Amino acid sequence: MPKEITFKKELVGNFGYPVWDNPTEVMVEAAFAHHKMDFDYVTTEVRSENLKAAFEGLKAMGYKGFNCTIPHKVAIIQYLDGLGESATLMEAVNCVVERDGKYIGENTDGKGFLESLKEVTESTGKNVVIFGAGGAARAVSVELALSGVAHMIIVNRSQDRGKALLNLLRKKTKVSCELVPWLGDYEVPNGTDIVINCTSIGLSPNVVRVPVDVETLKEGMVVCDLIVNPPYTPFLKEADSKGCTTLDGVGMLVNQGKVGIKYWSGVEVDGAVMRKKIEEIYK
Ligand code: NDP
Repeated sequence: MPKEITFKKELVGNFGYPVWDNPTEVMVEAAFAHHKMDFDYVTTEVRSENLKAAFEGLKAMGYKGFNCTIPHKVAIIQYLDGLGESATLMEAVNCVVERDGKYIGENTDGKGFLESLKEVTESTGKNVVIFGAGGAARAVSVELALSGVAHMIIVNRSQDRGKALLNLLRKKTKVSCELVPWLGDYEVPNGTDIVINCTSIGLSPNVVRVPVDVETLKEGMVVCDLIVNPPYTPFLKEADSKGCTTLDGVGMLVNQGKVGIKYWSGVEVDGAVMRKKIEEIYK
């Protein structure tokens, strides 16, 4: 058998619970196949009580890294050898990378979002409204703050979670920001440039509208929704009807996947292949 033939593949994957509805594996495998990479991505259901044992097993098997999803994004930190800059700021990890035998936590969600936002607008100097204060809002708002936005309004239902995010932004970044309680249909202030839904409102099967006063969405605003299933949400439909520029969540998913693959393998993969796969799933 010629020496260049190998049946061994590098292993990567994800840990989460539940994970049955997480499309990352098919998206990443599409890129591996397209680029003929000897990599396997394995979706693994790991309950919280088994996280440490699962991580030990993964290290023993020499994984190049893995994604972490709900409920492990914070809990995994205690087992890692270190954190990258974004993960340190966000205090959450969604991508672990093996570097010289050490497992380092990174956060690629915010970078993924910023990269897709660049397709429609620059963020520097802009006034931004963010709905939500959970993990996704935290990743997106920290990365936007680092990119130099002018002002950020966090709109959230629970004030405790909202305050925690506001404190983090004020402590760790220089961004000007405020917290607004979400009462009824939110009126987007005049002068807002970018509006982002970082909540799970609109996620299938509960495909409902985000409570926003539609009349305050104006032409010239960029309106983004992080929801991937379905990609074209009621919120984006309403924004389109008002002449806003809209951005779906698929770009963020694809871009954070691209960053992860680059970290694990050094390969810059074609995002179009990954987007096509996601669009096939959620058509
Ligand atoms: P979390 O559970 O951490 O946060 C959920 C957020 O949604 C909270 O701010 C919560 O508010 C708010 N929320 C949920 N339901 C309602 C409601 N009925 N009314 C008002 N607010 C509500 O989830 P994540 O931040 O991790 O994820 C949020 C969504 O982002 C996910 O559903 C996912 O679809 C999407 N996402 C997309 C990614 C992509 O690559 N495109 C990546 C990551 C996430 P409260 O604090 O009051 O409970």
